Amino acid sequence: MVSILRLVNPFARIGIRNYSTIIPLLFTVLSYLVIELLTLYVVRDPDSVGIFIIFISVALVMYFSFRDGIRGGFLAAAITLFYYTYIIFSRNYSGDQFRTSLNTTIILSLLFFILAAIIGWLKQSLDAIVLKEIDARLAAEEGHLRLQTILQQLPVGVLLVDVRSGIIEGNRQVEKILGKKVHMKLPQHDSEVSTNARLNQQPMPLKDWPITRAITKGEVISGEELEYWRDGKKQLFLRVNAAPIRNTKHEIVAAVSTFYDITQQKEMEQRKDDFVNMASHELKTPLTSMKLYIDSLQKRLEKNPDERLQRIVTNVKLQTNRLQELVNDLLDVSRIQTGKLSFSKEFFSLDTLIEESIEMLQETSKHTIEFTKKTHIKVHGDRFRIYQVITNLLTNAIKYSPQESEIVVKLKREAGHVVLSVQDFGIGISKDQSKKIFERLYQVTDPTEKTFPGLGMGLYISREIVRRHKGKIWVESEKGKGSTFFVSLPLGKK
Ligand code: ADP
Repeated sequence: MVSILRLVNPFARIGIRNYSTIIPLLFTVLSYLVIELLTLYVVRDPDSVGIFIIFISVALVMYFSFRDGIRGGFLAAAITLFYYTYIIFSRNYSGDQFRTSLNTTIILSLLFFILAAIIGWLKQSLDAIVLKEIDARLAAEEGHLRLQTILQQLPVGVLLVDVRSGIIEGNRQVEKILGKKVHMKLPQHDSEVSTNARLNQQPMPLKDWPITRAITKGEVISGEELEYWRDGKKQLFLRVNAAPIRNTKHEIVAAVSTFYDITQQKEMEQRKDDFVNMASHELKTPLTSMKLYIDSLQKRLEKNPDERLQRIVTNVKLQTNRLQELVNDLLDVSRIQTGKLSFSKEFFSLDTLIEESIEMLQETSKHTIEFTKKTHIKVHGDRFRIYQVITNLLTNAIKYSPQESEIVVKLKREAGHVVLSVQDFGIGISKDQSKKIFERLYQVTDPTEKTFPGLGMGLYISREIVRRHKGKIWVESEKGKGSTFFVSLPLGKK
């Protein structure tokens, strides 16, 4: 029954381009056959049913052009034309009556064909639109399914949220990492706090979640580290990225957040830091004894001079000092990592401090270090730590300008600040490296250049010392032409 209804109902066929020839042909012929039989044997007065037949013809043409497009409508119109011609000849019309019927048939047939063409064209266009719509929907559904599969298979946790639904959903990896399925609403109030996600051990407001910030503020977050407490016990470290998804009008329609579990990596780093810390502490004690022995050896040599032995002892002392500097740097890096780098601040003359470090370095270096622009400025800070920064910059300037011999040190007073600059004319640093050199253990490894000894700790320690003095450190450099390092320190008590 349902299938018959579907076959007959023209609206059920919208979007179906399977136009039939047989059905309009058979149905129209059958309709006219029934009408003819009724006219001849039931009504018995053929002239009285003219209007009724025209009405049926209009209905048939309209129906089939809507059901089967232009072809269906034309078929119905053509059969109608045949039937009308049959009527003219079978009723034995003559004279005026024949002419009138012939004219009416011609005009009506023309109208029927026009009607069939218009309705059929409209129906075919409608089918094309509907089909396009269906195709687009299917393609979107298919795309969605494909994306879903990719998301589920990704080895990183992916969270997705849509502005309209406000539901945050996660892929399988999220479930694996967090130990639970994620299907939750975006926070409704700023005061909502997550008990599991934490930042520096503190429970995190939900509005600060990367995905919330991406969808509400359009922020792009890259490589942020979060802690996550699974079941309130197991602590995980996550590295999170998030970004908004915008439509063509640049409006935010959704947001995506990806995260990796970096717990193992963190634990490894922690173990490595612990080891470096322990090793440098262990190295410190024998080094102190070695230095004491060297000093007593030197004292003995003063009493019984021996030139050759004196040279050897001086060299041993130099190397021991170098070793001690390395161990101290290692300890400082550990202290920075554990937040234990302490400062004891006082007012001191920057000019004197710079002169002292230049004097100390000039003992062993052939470079000329020029320091002319003195300022008589007193800064407030840790004298030893600032000395460490200046010495590091000067040592680097000497180390990285082996072909040149000049180094220029300047001090300049600026609004509320004093700026120290150390300029060399050596190998220089490329633009893309000039930020990275301040990172922990970062060294420029350029295969075309001779490799210089070092561990990449000096600038990292210097940056931390300057930062803790509320100052800034940066470099301006051009590869092959030399570098100028700047340290800006605020004046007054900090
Ligand atoms: P180290 O000198 O022990 O390698 P640093 O942290 O002091 O470590 O410096 C980091 C890196 O920055 C160095 O390895 C070097 O590549 C680059 N660098 C530092 N100072 C200079 C300079 N004056 N000229 C060129 N490169 C420099």
